[in-house]
Formats: sequence, structure tokens, C-alpha cells
Amino acid sequence: MPSEFELIAKYFTRPTPGAALGVGDDAALLRPTPGMELAVSTDMLVADRHFYADTNPYRLGHKALAVNLSDLAAMGAQPRWATLALALPQADEAWLTGFSRGLFDLARRHNVDLVGGDTTRGPLTINLTILGEVESGCALRRDGAQGGDDLWVSGELGAAALGLQHLTGMMILDDRDATACLERLETPTPRVALGRALVGVAHACIDLSDGLLADLGHILERSRLGAEVMLASLPVHAALGRCLASEASAALARHCLLAGGDDYELCFSASPNAAKRVEQIGKNLGLRLTRIGRLHTGKGLTLRDSQGQPIEIDARGYDHFA
Ligand code: ADP
Ligand code: MG
Repeated sequence: MPSEFELIAKYFTRPTPGAALGVGDDAALLRPTPGMELAVSTDMLVADRHFYADTNPYRLGHKALAVNLSDLAAMGAQPRWATLALALPQADEAWLTGFSRGLFDLARRHNVDLVGGDTTRGPLTINLTILGEVESGCALRRDGAQGGDDLWVSGELGAAALGLQHLTGMMILDDRDATACLERLETPTPRVALGRALVGVAHACIDLSDGLLADLGHILERSRLGAEVMLASLPVHAALGRCLASEASAALARHCLLAGGDDYELCFSASPNAAKRVEQIGKNLGLRLTRIGRLHTGKGLTLRDSQGQPIEIDARGYDHFA
């Protein structure tokens, strides 16, 4: 069996052109760009809590990095470096090959260097830390929203949660929808370019990891504002749209839309005066950006149906300790 050092050398040591010193010493050395602030975020993925242990390892490598990139996107930061702390039950080389490929394929696309980490035996746990840069004082924080702001969402919602319902057998999808939804669940696209483009445009931003209502709730709480959201305006993934249209699956589908996690789209607020700029950003990126409601100086989140009537909200975002 290969030693810990052989595993690190073979699977996790790659050139790090963006770092002064990468893997192999007691610490990596990084040179932040003058005038920029460092944005740092960590996300832990635990087998059988955040993913099934038999998940395709390439997809897992992608997702471990993608969820961290998504956090930096939500701050408007440019990702630059990552570290990886890995607990493995055994040195399964087929698994490591797939995992490291998935991770490095995505890292390369974003010019992120893996500069260090830790490797140990234990129950399968993937802990990634990402470091990026954002112009000093310009990060997109949760507490920056203003009353009267428009609320926007990128992409389409609900497919990842629907994919999970399919895996657990709660929702039966046809092959085409199942494939599309599992792809959204297992290989999400972090909206890094959108986050960068929103610096100086958006007032507040969050990535949707726990579901729209829960994550929007964080912006409202931190910015001390309320919101009105139009259910009919939400951008619904086509597969989810089909489930919403069928009486048997509508309730669960709506739960996926409002409270299903793992979409990794961005939800942000911006002045109505910036609407044209936001639309232009969406066009430039070829990414759907949808205005879903408005913030106000009151409290709470009101969801309205197409007649403007308030809808009782029972769907909560996923809380790991609930
Ligand atoms: P130390 O004993 O100083 O903690 P390690 O033996 O744990 O060092 O790690 C040796 C080198 O390999 C360090 O530079 C560390 O950052 C790096 N490293 C360890 N595991 C990983 C990993 N999974 N991915 C990337 N780098 C790693
Ligand atoms: Mg160590």
C-alpha cells in the first residue's frame, strides 16, 4: 500500500504558478495582491451526511471544490488558492484518481492552486478551504442590502433537490430528468464570474446552498429588512416544472423549489436603478438572471401567489441540527 507521502505526491501535488510555495513544506507561501482583501471560506463534506459514500469520486472532487468556489462567488471574490484536509477509510487508488481529477479539472478552469492540506485515515471526510481576493471594502456581504432593492436569482432552482428526492426514492423521474437533476446535484456550477461582475453593482449576495427561503432569510436578518417574493416569478428548472404540474408531486416539488438546497445559484439584491446593468451582466455571461421580488424596511418574508395573495410558508431550509 502506498504511504501517505506517496499518495500526496501522486494525487495532490500539481504545479502552483499562483503561489510562492505550494505543497511539500511545513506551510505554503502566498503573495496576496496589494489593495485586495483575502476572502477565506471552509466547507466540510462528510460521507453519508452530505453525500453517499458510493458517489462517483470524480463528481465528489468537483463538488468539494465547487461548493467552496460558490462561497467566494457569493462574496464577489476571485478564487486563488485552496487547501484540502482529507480523511480516508483506506488508500483506494481508483477512488483517489477519480477524486483528484474531478477536483483539479475544476481548479484549472478557475486558476485555483491547491497549495497544501492534510491526509489521514478516518471516516471519509473532505474538508476544503478556499482563499480568494476581492477589492478592499467591496465584498458582497449579507448585511449590505437596502430597503427598496430588487431581489435577483441566477440560473434555475430546484433541480438539485429534485435529484436528491430521486436518489432517496421519494420522487420518480424519467431517465432524462433524472440525469439532468443528478448532474445539478453532483456537479454544481459555481457562479464565480457572476460574483465578480456584481462587485460594485449588488448590495448584498448569498449563495443558495440550504434553499432559497433559508438563505434569503440570512440576508434579511443581517440587513434587518423584509422581503416580498413572487412565487410565479421564480426561475424553475424544466424537470421541476413537470413535477409542479402534476398533482401527485406538486407539494414535494414546491418544497424542492423553496427549501431544497444544493442549487449553488446566487441570490442578490441591487438598486432598481441598477436593473439594466444586472440584465447586461446576465447577457454577457449567458446566464439567466431573474428578478424575484423586492426588499422593504419592514420585517419577514412574504411569498405571494399569482393573484398577489400571501402563501403560508411552511417550507424551511435544511438545518443540520433541526
Ligand atoms: P506536516 O507533517 O507538516 O503536517 P504533512 O506530512 O501532513 O505535513 O504534509 C506534507 C505536505 O503535503 C504539506 O505541504 C501539506 O500541506 C501537503 N498535503 C498533505 N495532504 C495534502 C492533500 N490532501 N492535498 C494537498 N496537499 C496536502
Ligand atoms: Mg499534516
